[in-house]
Amino acid sequence: MLKILNYPHPVLRQVAQPVTIIDKLTKLEAQAMLKTLAPKPDKVKGVGLAANQVGILKRIFIIKLASGNLEVCINPKILKTSKKTLACLPQEKHFLEGCLCFPGYYGFVDRPIKIKVSYQNLNNKTVKTTLTPPHSSYFQHELDHLNGILFIDYINQSKQPLYLADKKTGQLQPVNNPF
Ligand SMILES: [Zn+2]
Repeated sequence: MLKILNYPHPVLRQVAQPVTIIDKLTKLEAQAMLKTLAPKPDKVKGVGLAANQVGILKRIFIIKLASGNLEVCINPKILKTSKKTLACLPQEKHFLEGCLCFPGYYGFVDRPIKIKVSYQNLNNKTVKTTLTPPHSSYFQHELDHLNGILFIDYINQSKQPLYLADKKTGQLQPVNNPF
């Protein structure tokens, strides 16, 4: 298991480098990331984890797909984005983003609703697929990590409220943004 870095660790602001060869080390790192995100099948810590978050500056992240499976995405790219963003959706369809580097904090991030993406999987196969909410947001959130961008940047820019989950009940309470 790898240690998940908390904000404001400087690695979270660095740009990860493309993976040129999916070699043994890269595979081991990806496996370690999977173990970190999901120590046990019934104990998944989040919906995504980017390499920067565990101090590895390679363009690799893991996200939960619509199937429920965790997918290793190497050299991920967004090929096309919808003009429509989540803010166009009715309020009840809005969801809050969180981040393992900001334990307990959540906020609304407006992003394109639908995206067409490509990435390489662990078998070096190029996958192209279209993602819809919330998986489109997972992908964009993790891709941002590889570019040193954090969800709090959007919250700060849009002045969206920030919420903190109560440690015991999990209930969200609006809080003053300390970031
Ligand atoms: Zn994150």
